[in-house]
Amino acid sequence: MIPTPPDASQTDALDAPGVLALAMEALGRERLALASSFGAEDMVILDMLVGLTDRPRVFTLDTGRLPQQTYDLMDASRRRYGIDIEVYFPQAADVEEMVLARGLNLFYESIDNRKECCGVRKVEPLSRALRTVDGWITGLRREQILTRAETPKIGLDQAHGDLWKVAPLAEWGEQQVWDYIRDRDVPYNALHDQGYPSIGCAPCTRAIEPGEDSRAGRWWWELPEQRECGLHFDPTTGRLLPVKSPEERLAVGAEASSF
Ligand code: SF4
Repeated sequence: MIPTPPDASQTDALDAPGVLALAMEALGRERLALASSFGAEDMVILDMLVGLTDRPRVFTLDTGRLPQQTYDLMDASRRRYGIDIEVYFPQAADVEEMVLARGLNLFYESIDNRKECCGVRKVEPLSRALRTVDGWITGLRREQILTRAETPKIGLDQAHGDLWKVAPLAEWGEQQVWDYIRDRDVPYNALHDQGYPSIGCAPCTRAIEPGEDSRAGRWWWELPEQRECGLHFDPTTGRLLPVKSPEERLAVGAEASSF
């Protein structure tokens, strides 16, 4: 039985390590994992986690379309922190079927195609990974995008079986993230120095111009409100999760992930 997550009154005053410590204490190392896309926020959290527990659980999704720089950072993280990284791959048969029907670069052709690709390469592997935990940690920050504006520090992930969804950096700003990385010499993705604030799959990520929104380089050919990666959609239906009340809005706000 997964314990009920604390409400906002119990987490509002906690700093990021405090949020992680609370979650670790409640769920234990074996049932709490960092879902890392090896973005800047994920690296900050990883650095904090290794200070809290030996060999924290870390999983990632290898979509098969990641940039080389992300793989390089995965190996650098293994070496720096002495951790194992659990890598979840898409189901080979699903990828083969999709590519046979719609081609390798199907995501540029329609939003439905892009959602199908994210479904096969991200949503299904994420669901599989989340069956191994009672709670997951993400690098979501409220200021990143409108759909993340109400992300709680610890919320309830109803789409994946009432797991805890822990966002220790929910109230952090971008500058705070980078100050932490520089102060502690935390490794980070080399693409960040080439104009990529947000990094996903190689064909779906581009560098941004000065003044552009930090998420503008993800799925840039789509309208901004259509750009989330599908991980905040119900994985069984592909539909956006319904939002009915302020409480549910908080829960749904926690559905997005950093992949
Ligand atoms: S981000 Fe692009 S390549 Fe990656 S899973 Fe989604 S559509 Fe496919």
